[in-house]
Amino acid sequence: MSQSSAHIALSFSGRGAIVTGAASGIGAAVARLLVSAGVRTLALDLRKPESIDGPHADLHVPAAVDVRDREVLQSVIDSHAGDGFSYIVNCAGILETTGFVGVDQTAWSRALDVNLVGAYNVIDAGTPHLERATVGAIVNISSIESHRVVALTDPDPTPQYAAGKAGLSMLTRTAARALAQRGIRVNSVAPGFIATPMAAAHGDTTRLPESLHARVPAGRFGHPDEIANAVAFLLSDQADYITGGELLVDGGFELT
Ligand code: NAD
Repeated sequence: MSQSSAHIALSFSGRGAIVTGAASGIGAAVARLLVSAGVRTLALDLRKPESIDGPHADLHVPAAVDVRDREVLQSVIDSHAGDGFSYIVNCAGILETTGFVGVDQTAWSRALDVNLVGAYNVIDAGTPHLERATVGAIVNISSIESHRVVALTDPDPTPQYAAGKAGLSMLTRTAARALAQRGIRVNSVAPGFIATPMAAAHGDTTRLPESLHARVPAGRFGHPDEIANAVAFLLSDQADYITGGELLVDGGFELT
């Protein structure tokens, strides 16, 4: 049997990337993939992401920053700009499952400040760098919860997370419109159920719980690398004509 296989390569004619939430799960997978493609990547998280191994490992530049802190964020981004930034990937996020009733102001503020305003802060701080680059592209990690009510472990959904993710999808579209004239594309990836520490906080991620099995045609959790692949495509030169869109990576959940 022939061992040959065909390939289509993605190209990145831009320079550096900023990835948030890069210490864990999807953000860590995105940072690893971009570094392996030869893109210098500023990997940001509340705690400094661990160094990575492999080819181009020196292109992984970890730093601790809270995306809610605009002043520190701006200064970290500016001080690591080096040869410039062409890409931003907003993965930082929190999910505090509360159910619908009695969610207090603190929980609302925390969810929106990190998942929505935090993404805006990174876009706003990074845009001047992207504008100076030859290409510019941004991907926000939203969720299937941006447009569909999902209650994973509790029949009662968590409003501040879903509303924040819906807001993030709209932020993607407003940013895409606002930044198009500066040569910057903005899209989102909406993951389904992905095996990360965030999902693991709600139960075993090695197999789908019975309640979800019939609802996910792929029959399994997604892997963080599968989200990173979608992000890489949307950042790449091959997605040059795509802006303001949302790419579902959900194993078919939307179909059920
Ligand atoms: P994760 O918990 O593994 O990673 C999230 C990272 O964000 C953590 O390292 C955390 O420290 C960081 N973070 C949190 N608050 C921050 C802040 N204020 N500043 C900087 N960093 C901060 O979770 P994940 O599953 O990899 O989630 C990544 C993104 O994907 C999130 O936005 C999440 O909402 C989204 N998402 C995840 C799933 C899933 O099933 N795992 C599904 C849909 C969407």
